[in-house]
Amino acid sequence: MPYKKFVISDRVTLIQETGVANFMRCNIWHVKGRDFDLVIDTGMGLDPLKQWITQHRAKPIKAIVTHCHFDHSGCLHEFDVRMGHPLEADILANPTNARVVYDGVWTKIGIVDLTQHPDYSAETYSIKAAALTDYIDEGDVIDLGDRAYQVLHLPGHSPGSIGLWDIKDKTLFSGDALYDGELLDSLYHSNITDYLQTLERIESLDVDVFHAGHFPSFNAKRMQTLINNYRNGVNRLGDIELWFNGNKDRMTNIFADQNWKGAAK
Ligand SMILES: [Zn+2]
Repeated sequence: MPYKKFVISDRVTLIQETGVANFMRCNIWHVKGRDFDLVIDTGMGLDPLKQWITQHRAKPIKAIVTHCHFDHSGCLHEFDVRMGHPLEADILANPTNARVVYDGVWTKIGIVDLTQHPDYSAETYSIKAAALTDYIDEGDVIDLGDRAYQVLHLPGHSPGSIGLWDIKDKTLFSGDALYDGELLDSLYHSNITDYLQTLERIESLDVDVFHAGHFPSFNAKRMQTLINNYRNGVNRLGDIELWFNGNKDRMTNIFADQNWKGAAK
């Protein structure tokens, strides 16, 4: 099975790639709508995603990337409708491994289980170009007919990071703007000032449930702890190679199915 699914509610299903290290495995959110479905983020692209979803359900799908990084944008090219923020449109249309942050330590350590993905190789891995068909930005509303999602621009981790805010269910699909693990603000296009502003913004929303880009979903209390810790320098990933070398004890059984908790205190 290339993917596993976890039914969260009548509307929301979590899909995860199998055989990807649990600290790298992106949460792919399938949101069912009356007129069309949303797929929020698309994984590393190791196996076809659209075909896997549509064999279970025949609704038109609009795919959204919360940002351009390789662990979120790998299968975007498969979808006819590809939505994302204009600030990352050029990267998605003309991706290189460096631009989608597949470089450095990620290429040196085994983030993919070769017994499940024998064709994967760090030397040949790349992201297929996926020009956006629709730009989405702050203030846009994506209306599925029976539920609408407000687009929030949440820069910091990357310049065009977006979130999707379901004000009725008080649910925020937060991408990598906030997840239950050490936040990554040291990438080539990260911006710490923007990140701090984004976290302040997230705090000001009345969110009950966070469905994030990685790791398990969490509540408002956990959100506050994560943000406070980031501000205090605790919940910050920093230099990726240093982080990896300092966390070798956590790198056992990394392909296990269960969600892996970051070291967030
Ligand atoms: Zn990212």
